Amino acid sequence: MKVVRTIQDLRGTVDHTKRIGLVPTMGAFHEGHLSLFRVAGAECDLVVVSLFVNPAQFGANDDLGRYPRDEARDVQVAEEAGIDVLFVPEAAELYPTGFGTWVDVEEAGAEGVQRPEHFRGVATVCLKLFNIVRPSVAYFGQKDAQQAAVLRRLVRDLNVDLELRVLPTVRDADGLAWSSRNAYLSAHDRVEALALPRALEAGRSAHVHGSDPVTAARAALNGLQPEYVEVVDLGDVRVLAAAARVGSTRLIDNVVLEGELR
Ligand code: AMP
Repeated sequence: MKVVRTIQDLRGTVDHTKRIGLVPTMGAFHEGHLSLFRVAGAECDLVVVSLFVNPAQFGANDDLGRYPRDEARDVQVAEEAGIDVLFVPEAAELYPTGFGTWVDVEEAGAEGVQRPEHFRGVATVCLKLFNIVRPSVAYFGQKDAQQAAVLRRLVRDLNVDLELRVLPTVRDADGLAWSSRNAYLSAHDRVEALALPRALEAGRSAHVHGSDPVTAARAALNGLQPEYVEVVDLGDVRVLAAAARVGSTRLIDNVVLEGELR
């Protein structure tokens, strides 16, 4: 595996006669990332993973300063996963002095309302990564369903020439979706956090039986105060999504109500 830190080196490394898969990440790799790596490896000739904790997608009150970072471990995990190129740029590489062009994202659902700057930062950095790596396929997780919806629309609206794949959420044995932010949870928080996937599952089950999934999920939150519970349309699939704080940790999760991810 090659670890590259500059755009110039990345462009010199990637062979565009091959089918290239890109997996954008913020590191602290877990089973969710690994599932994207595996599918990208199976579907592409060359897999590029980007590792960049993008300051532009964190709000003033978000956890940028304490976001988990362990590059040495991530390099090892990516290498063992068979990744070809790990792109680890510094912030100044992607946002040089004088940077001033942003992707303006309209109507990004409840997650966008809660975090107004977030999707502008996500859309801008992803478009930059698409232009730098020029992949045939870019891989994202259903875990961040609203993000996937924003990026699907970006690819369509701005005529980005790639295929965007959204892969199912990977859960730990207790049902909690893998997330780098789970590292913040105490043992007590973790038990409390399980109400989130359980409530979404209750919502899904209600939907199957013809009842309102949002009402059912809200009723099953077991004291967790949600920031929102909403149905998100991803085009081919509709998911029931929710966000809630457990202690000081903000968790998001969702389950598929209808359709199939692709
Ligand atoms: P992150 O490093 O948190 O920005 O995530 C990088 C990519 O991995 C995003 O496309 C996420 O949606 C995806 N991802 C994160 N957690 C999971 C999970 N539990 N299952 C599947 N994909 C995930």
